[in-house]
Amino acid sequence: MKEIILKYVLQSSLLNSGKVNPKGVMGRIMADNPHLRGKAKEVYNLVLEISKEVESIPLEEQKKKLEEIAPDMVVEEGKEKKRELILKNVKDSVVMRFAPNPSGPLHLGHSRAAVLNDYFVKKYGGKFILRLEDTDPKRVLPEAYEMIEEDLEWLNIKVDEKIIQSERMEIYYEHCERLIEMGHAYVCRCDPEEFRNLKNQGIPCRCRNRSVEENLELWERMLDNSLEGAVVRLKTDIQHKNPSVRDFPIFRMEDTLHPRTGDKYVVYPLMNFSVPVDDHLLGITHVLRGKDHIINTEKQRYIFEYFKWEIPEYIHYGILKIEGTVLSTSKMYEGIIKREYSGWDDPRLGTLRALRRRGIKPEAIYRSMLEIGIKPADVKYSWENLYAINREIIDKDAKRFFFVENPKRLKVLGAEPKTLYLRMHPDRDLGTRELPFEGEVYISDDLEINGMYRLMELYNIIVEKIEGDVVYARYHSEDFKILRKKKGKVIHWVPVKDVVNTVVIDTEGREHHGFAEKDFRNVNVGDIVQFERYGFVRVDNKIRDGELKVICYFAHK
Ligand SMILES: [Zn+2]
Repeated sequence: MKEIILKYVLQSSLLNSGKVNPKGVMGRIMADNPHLRGKAKEVYNLVLEISKEVESIPLEEQKKKLEEIAPDMVVEEGKEKKRELILKNVKDSVVMRFAPNPSGPLHLGHSRAAVLNDYFVKKYGGKFILRLEDTDPKRVLPEAYEMIEEDLEWLNIKVDEKIIQSERMEIYYEHCERLIEMGHAYVCRCDPEEFRNLKNQGIPCRCRNRSVEENLELWERMLDNSLEGAVVRLKTDIQHKNPSVRDFPIFRMEDTLHPRTGDKYVVYPLMNFSVPVDDHLLGITHVLRGKDHIINTEKQRYIFEYFKWEIPEYIHYGILKIEGTVLSTSKMYEGIIKREYSGWDDPRLGTLRALRRRGIKPEAIYRSMLEIGIKPADVKYSWENLYAINREIIDKDAKRFFFVENPKRLKVLGAEPKTLYLRMHPDRDLGTRELPFEGEVYISDDLEINGMYRLMELYNIIVEKIEGDVVYARYHSEDFKILRKKKGKVIHWVPVKDVVNTVVIDTEGREHHGFAEKDFRNVNVGDIVQFERYGFVRVDNKIRDGELKVICYFAHK
């Protein structure tokens, strides 16, 4: 166990110029080693002990030691973990693209491709192209173009060039015409059902053998909108082992108005046409995509071959399963329209803006996606790991406060009034806070009659009676050992005077009402704080409608 802890401590020290962040280390250990979760206390004591040892040796030696026991955890300059993220066949530099549909803002699933493309462009030098794939007018949300750019900026991803496919229609038309002229594509007017039946038996439809001239004429009529329900098909192999590859469609007619181009176009390319054409014209060297696209890659190869273009390097990574949030853009949109969700940043959604609102830092998302990398094996996304990384980032600036949810009154008899001055942060100088104890406090816990408890940072008390929502207790003693002997519990509290009305909205969108201690009123919107024994929250709003009310979003424990 010491060995495991040592590598995390060393890494933390190297990341923070010689100062270990014990809580961050704990988070990482628990996320990566679930079997240690039952021994949290023991582990934490070891972390503290080992941290002291590590901090006493020079950084150079720390690095050597880490290289020895866990070379994959050695940190390079710029805080990037060294890992085996390598692209094959890189010449001088790379040109890569991130190609979302502008149907909504980016969500966690998108961030993988965005981050990895950005990472490789930064690693090898080259160009990051944002390509907005908006050739399905039904799946375009006008606001999304801008939201996607904002989201990338938030992730600290620099876009070198932006391409909008709906502005490139003439280019696609021209390439389609060339394919028809070469005899590699044809206009098909068959009923879709009928075509499918033939295709599944490996039989060509009657359109396949039409002359180039006839096809060009029909193509013109498609563009003029005087031919209903026609598609252009690519001639592949009508007996290909995968029926979906057999003469797949590359253009279709669509009369839905396009939010950007209106009714200017009625013939739209399908992605297995526009993607390879653009990948070629933009000089894309490496394409990162999920394994679920392998069949699309196979289809797109036909286009490259017919035009005699050089095929980019394709990397198909495993599927990333993200559970516990909503990622379907259409479901999100529907929910927003029906007012089930408050907006694209509703905490139940997996959008980047929802995560941002909860206090998840872009660096945490970036790092979690780099850790997933481009392995071909499917992976389940670990929220715990994201939270552990985020905790490491936010902990050092998060002020501590007491917060009691569903508050009950507790009256303590026989206790001397006392004012506590507590640090805003256990190991950094972020100021102090004042908690005046005058015998009456709010608590959240359910107490038992005759039970012994300790008001955090104060004294031990014995509960005498409970009347409705009010608990009466008597001062018992100062010594913590007495409490421990009686197996009593430490409870946190806030003085009844000057409490701050606080609402915490959790990841399910539920509201938790309670009181925070008085100094909490000085936080700013956007601050991330830790409610002790409760978790990290981001201050989202301060409403001053008579009495102050602070709205927070829950980040994680
Ligand atoms: Zn046909």
